[in-house]
Amino acid sequence: MVQTPLMLAAMHGKISCVEKLLEAGANVLMFDSLHGRTCLHYAAYYGHSDCLQAIISSAHSSPVAVSWGFSRFVNIRDGRGATPLHLAARRSRPECVHILLDNGALVCAATGGYCCPASTPLHLAARGGSLDCIRALLAWGADRIQRDSSGRIPYIVALKHKHGACAAMLNPSSAEPLVWPAPLKFISELNQEAKALLEQALMEANREREKNILKGTAYSLPSPSHSDVGTDDNLSVESDLDLCCICFEQVCTIEVQNCGHQMCAQCTLALCCHNKPNPTTLCVTPPVCPFCRSTIARLVVAEIKTYDDADHDTGDNNSSKLRKARRSRNFSEGSSSFKGLSALGSFGKMGVRGSGRILAENEWVDKP
Ligand SMILES: [Zn+2]
Ligand SMILES: [Zn+2]
Repeated sequence: MVQTPLMLAAMHGKISCVEKLLEAGANVLMFDSLHGRTCLHYAAYYGHSDCLQAIISSAHSSPVAVSWGFSRFVNIRDGRGATPLHLAARRSRPECVHILLDNGALVCAATGGYCCPASTPLHLAARGGSLDCIRALLAWGADRIQRDSSGRIPYIVALKHKHGACAAMLNPSSAEPLVWPAPLKFISELNQEAKALLEQALMEANREREKNILKGTAYSLPSPSHSDVGTDDNLSVESDLDLCCICFEQVCTIEVQNCGHQMCAQCTLALCCHNKPNPTTLCVTPPVCPFCRSTIARLVVAEIKTYDDADHDTGDNNSSKLRKARRSRNFSEGSSSFKGLSALGSFGKMGVRGSGRILAENEWVDKP
């Protein structure tokens, strides 16, 4: 047997065939006789993210993957020691890279004999020249100074293949990117929408950083992603109504459950980035709500009220003032935790500006 029908369907991106085969119980753990690759390798190599997602979802419940271990399946190696993530990075398939990382693909895994031995996904993305792949891998904690078997770091690989913008990003002396915080993995129910918002905030912060990195070079980035523009417009309309009480800059988009406190995505991320593992136990403690110190069990998307009606500045405005006042009070109760937050360095923007304004706001609240 050279290739199974499932491999062929994944290779050609025939999603309906992939789905039917999976429903019929096709084995996801078959290896072709050519390269020792599975259907997951095929989907990743050819960049069919829908097929990749379908296979991964099915593997979650498939008895084979259960006995083998889901994580082992996602990190399965072909005959030359390449995982699906290696192939997706090498072939510049950012969507597949993202799905694989999201499902537990090891970001720093080194290849066996594939490409230059001991290449990491970051080496392979540098070779392929995909900024999107590099961006995703870095946000997932890929190491810029890990060396392949010939001693090269990804930066050198990008230079060699003349991918200048990629090289600028991979240069170990460029600013460190923000990394998807490990404590988020400890929030048992991070709802998908909340997760998407947090990820967007992370990527936006990293884009700002990229702009600065590339400013001095001959490369410029395409303008920031266009799907965001619509939401931004919406948010700016409402911004004086529902501002985050930590930074006073962004709109509250994330709600902590069960206490119901709200903050913006950037501050939520900063809060989680701040949560370093305990050095003695090497245990990551789950983040706590900065307002009431209760352990964050669940993050959901805060309900954002839309004020389309013309009469919104009469009744609604009052209630929003009340809300603001209530939150500010809540905030001063928890202000000791803010000291920790403002010391975070990862979100330069929020630390400095936020602390100044919070004092002012508290004064305003305390005055009779
Ligand atoms: Zn905020
Ligand atoms: Zn709370």
